[in-house]
Amino acid sequence: MADPRLQAAAERIGARRVKQVVAAAQALARQGSIAPLAVADEAVARMPALAGSLTRVVNATGVVLHTNLGRAPLSTAAVHALIAASGTTDVEFDLSTGQRAPRGRGVLDSLRAAVPDADDIAVVNNGAAALVLATTALAAGREIIISRGELIEIGDGFRLPDLIRSTGARLREVGTTNRTNIDDYSSAIGPDTACILKIHASNFRMSGFTRAVSVAQLSSLGVPVVVDIGSGLLRPDRLLPNEPDVTTTLRAGASLVTASGDKLLGGPQAGLIFGNADMVKVLRRHPLARALRVDKLTLAALEATVDGPPTPTWQALHADPVILRARTDAIIASVSAFVDAYIVASDGAVGGGSAPDQVLPGCAVSLPSDFARELRLGNPPIVGRRERGRCLLDLRCVPAESDELIVQTIRRISQALPGVDDR
Ligand SMILES: *Cc1c(COP(=O)(O)O)cnc(C)c1O
Repeated sequence: MADPRLQAAAERIGARRVKQVVAAAQALARQGSIAPLAVADEAVARMPALAGSLTRVVNATGVVLHTNLGRAPLSTAAVHALIAASGTTDVEFDLSTGQRAPRGRGVLDSLRAAVPDADDIAVVNNGAAALVLATTALAAGREIIISRGELIEIGDGFRLPDLIRSTGARLREVGTTNRTNIDDYSSAIGPDTACILKIHASNFRMSGFTRAVSVAQLSSLGVPVVVDIGSGLLRPDRLLPNEPDVTTTLRAGASLVTASGDKLLGGPQAGLIFGNADMVKVLRRHPLARALRVDKLTLAALEATVDGPPTPTWQALHADPVILRARTDAIIASVSAFVDAYIVASDGAVGGGSAPDQVLPGCAVSLPSDFARELRLGNPPIVGRRERGRCLLDLRCVPAESDELIVQTIRRISQALPGVDDR
């Protein structure tokens, strides 16, 4: 630890992390893999650039919103805004008057401009928080009417009905799993009804003998209609005809619409609430709102996402198949002299519990399956997909400037993995 290089590293990323790296190098020396005198050099070579264990990963899975890889990657505009806000910032301060100013005013202006149909807007920590706040503030101790076809689990064992019940609201389930009609709702309305809740079945599809009631029909029943659309599209996207969007849902008559910030909107984790001004005001003044409030980093990244250029998520969804194919061919041409690499058709997916049956046709570099692990352990890690005994790299979500990195990494692995080319 007295080595000046390790001292400098400790100042940069903290002594605890540096000690861990030194201990790992010592373990190599004890195993006899390196010489005892090489421990410091080895530790310096292995020293991570950043404090913290979250690692940048190249997403070559073809899944645009990969939950295990952090859902939406931020745009460059959002990253710059986030860095600018990370120090002391005017998040609640008006520089012209020197007085306190409303928190989040910038992002609310951006969202208002993007969704003029919303009378008012609130931002909370994530989509689940938006739903909790709406149901708590509007319906605690009262009834929420919901179709049995919309009692969904969003992943990792979390079920929205449990989440809503935890707020003290009672769920009044109507209809059947596959069919719910307008009379099911209207006959359930009573003095205790606080609202109707409609939840987009975002991560599965029902087909066959099914029926659901539209937001427009529900909003004719005279009780507030809260719609959880999940994905966060602000306006319709022709590529995703089955995904609901905020503007259309409000125009259909929803009182409140809730959505996530880090799905199809392509921003940071956040929960967005749009709609009726009186209801949003009730939510904003509810004590729970303070517990669900977002930090300055989220506000900065969200504002830059909404105002900024097309997000990486949008670009990956709308990637030009001709360009994807040309990039895939170019990588294969650069590595096929020493690796068994060829092009295959590859269907990408939206992921993140959005548009489950939407296929994104494209192509992939197909490599021997041994490459999957080696690429994953690379620096930076490249995560592909394993399919039928091969490792596929789909470039849909890979920034073009990373193509050369992929070529170099495949080349390095093929030198270290003798015999993987058994063609
Ligand atoms: C994803 C999703 C949620 C949860 O949103 P988070 O931002 O992950 O908390 C809630 N409802 C629906 C319909 C969703 O698709």
